[in-house]
Amino acid sequence: MSIFTKIINREIPSTIIYEDEKIIVIKDIKPLAKTHLLIIPKKEIPTINDLEEVDRELLSEMFFVAKKVAKDLKIDEWYQLHFNVWEKWWQEVMHIHMHLLSNS
Ligand code: 5GP
Repeated sequence: MSIFTKIINREIPSTIIYEDEKIIVIKDIKPLAKTHLLIIPKKEIPTINDLEEVDRELLSEMFFVAKKVAKDLKIDEWYQLHFNVWEKWWQEVMHIHMHLLSNS
C-alpha cells in the first residue's frame, strides 16, 4: 500500500485541499514553491508507464481537478503541472500524482 493510499484512508494525516470519489488533492509535505499540491488518483497506479486504456478518463479528470483547485485558490494566472517518472531518483512515491506548483 502506498503512502498516498494511507493518506486517502486517513491512516496518515495530511492537509486535504480537495476530494471527490476518484481524486484527492493534498499539500506536499516538503513544498518546493509557495503553493505545492499533489493531485492524486485514489486508484493506486505505480507510474505513468503503468497507465492502461481504462485510465484515460481518470487522467483527464486529474487535469480538470488541477484547473478547479488553481482557480479556487486564485493561483490560476500561472502555475506548473508535472509528473515525475523515474524510480531510481525522481519518483519517490510509486503511486501516480501530479505536482501543482505556484509562487503566486
Ligand atoms: P515524487 O518525487 O514521487 O514525484 O513526489 C513525491 C512527493 O510526495 C514529494 O514532493 C514529497 O515531498 C511528497 N510526500 C512524500 N511523503 C509525503 C507525505 O507523507 N505527505 C505529504 N503530504 N507529502 C508527501
